[in-house]
Amino acid sequence: MERADDISLKRTSSLYSSPPMGPPDQPNYVNAVVMIETPLGSVNLLRRLQDIERDHDRVRTGVRWGPRTLDLDILLFGEESIYTDTLRIPHRGLTERPFVVVPLAEIMPDLILPNGVCVSDLAAQMQDQTLVRLGHD
Ligand code: AMP
Repeated sequence: MERADDISLKRTSSLYSSPPMGPPDQPNYVNAVVMIETPLGSVNLLRRLQDIERDHDRVRTGVRWGPRTLDLDILLFGEESIYTDTLRIPHRGLTERPFVVVPLAEIMPDLILPNGVCVSDLAAQMQDQTLVRLGHD
């Protein structure tokens, strides 16, 4: 996993495999959620994550949800709510996608999501047979 001076990893979920959300002619995705500590603000953190994506040879093809080597998203940033053209926090898919909710519940089981629901309760409701826990990195 990427190490960076200004990003300190606090918790890491298991890795999970899930079918692609976009075009089906691509391999399964591997997802995970991490908790970090950083002195960066949210906008600079996003820039930093995009640099890391670029370092992993990610090329933006313009195909939405097309194949990619690495996709780093900010799900939550403390208590911050941000709604701009380039950054939306909490992340739009935060409460809808099993491959986000299940690993998030693994590292922060008591977290109350912005919609008032406990993440563990939501994860328990999301019985998704296509999400496969691969184990820890
Ligand atoms: P993606 O193709 O999934 O990497 O996302 C494309 C764009 O989503 C990025 O260029 C960001 O500007 C924007 N974006 C909006 N909110 C977020 C967020 N919470 N985390 C990461 N990217 C975000």
